[in-house]
Amino acid sequence: MPVSEAWHQRLADARADRQQTHRWRSRQVMANGASESALDFAGNDYLGLAHDPRVSEAQADGARRFGAGAGASHLVSGHLEVHDALEEALAHWTGRERALLFSTGYMANLGVLQALADRHTAIFQDRLNHASLLDGAALSGARNRRFHHRDANDLENLLGRIEYAHKLVVSDGVFSMDGDVADVASLVSACQRHHAWLMIDDAHGVGVLGDNGSGCVGSTWSSAKVPILVGTFGKALGTAGAFVAGDAALIDHLIQFSRSYIYTTAQPPAIAAATLKALDIVQREPEHRTTLNANIAYFRREALRLGLPLSDSTTPIQPLILEDEARTLTWATRLQQHGVYVGAIRPPTVPKGEARLRITLSARHSRHQIERLLEALTACQREETACLANA
Ligand SMILES: *Cc1c(COP(=O)(O)O)cnc(C)c1O
Repeated sequence: MPVSEAWHQRLADARADRQQTHRWRSRQVMANGASESALDFAGNDYLGLAHDPRVSEAQADGARRFGAGAGASHLVSGHLEVHDALEEALAHWTGRERALLFSTGYMANLGVLQALADRHTAIFQDRLNHASLLDGAALSGARNRRFHHRDANDLENLLGRIEYAHKLVVSDGVFSMDGDVADVASLVSACQRHHAWLMIDDAHGVGVLGDNGSGCVGSTWSSAKVPILVGTFGKALGTAGAFVAGDAALIDHLIQFSRSYIYTTAQPPAIAAATLKALDIVQREPEHRTTLNANIAYFRREALRLGLPLSDSTTPIQPLILEDEARTLTWATRLQQHGVYVGAIRPPTVPKGEARLRITLSARHSRHQIERLLEALTACQREETACLANA
């Protein structure tokens, strides 16, 4: 077979496999972002800041003042005062000495793991950690082990069995597909007993959890207990980008050695300006978190009453585990016909047999909109019962 034909065949096989297993991923063109027609219960704009006019205005103003892009990497000439101000505000917010901006959370995780870990390092990850953490570990060349989800005993077993010069324990703060929160206290004690460092990726926690909205680590755990804290701006802060917060020595090390920090163009300064505004709103206006929590409580109460397969999550991520992949797609399609958009999450993003609708709530949702979601879910339930009765 000629070479190019082998390539065509390889891609065709991969596509066919995705389709046959109901795992085909497709994009939805949303009418200019969150449209009015479709109700968005799939996004991560938990506080509504992506649509807050004050944040958009800060971005527009930033673009007028600093231009459309940074023009260079941070280490060349792309590190502007607005980036520096944002780093300082993030360090203060999370109770850390310093913070460092990255262009995305994916790059932050790659950059931290690659800069800290090597083949003399063992990395221990929660089984349900975000893909970027797994990819970062692979890139670092470290030995990578996974422990059972939120299971500190399993982690301690592994930590005790494996002798490596450096051990790094890594966990999501809020798990992105399940919405449950890491047991940080248990992770901290396991790490202390085994002289390991702890890294928490709180992408879905910052802005949402904690007294000052700084997440499940920021205001609760010092950098002595959680030396490496990662947060992102694309979720509750409503913009784009990410940060790592920790001691000055950690940040200096990342500036020297983190390749995804060094070899990329700095985040557009206008985005930094918008993020600074979003951060200011998060700190000054706790009412958005209050509204969000009321929405979560209302959804959970009604969903339980309807007998929907709710999980234990108390965060804005409220998965309904439907298990079967085809069933999950059927429900998602039906919901869309009712004008409600939710994520249909299937393996390999989640373990086999745990396909789910990933429903996310926002402070931006009105009571009436959540009622519409619940009505659409009821319609899915009713239709399934009718199908079973006819079968
Ligand atoms: C979304 C997410 C990321 C990636 O962040 P981006 O800024 O979107 O690249 C990393 N970790 C977790 C846990 C996430 O949910």
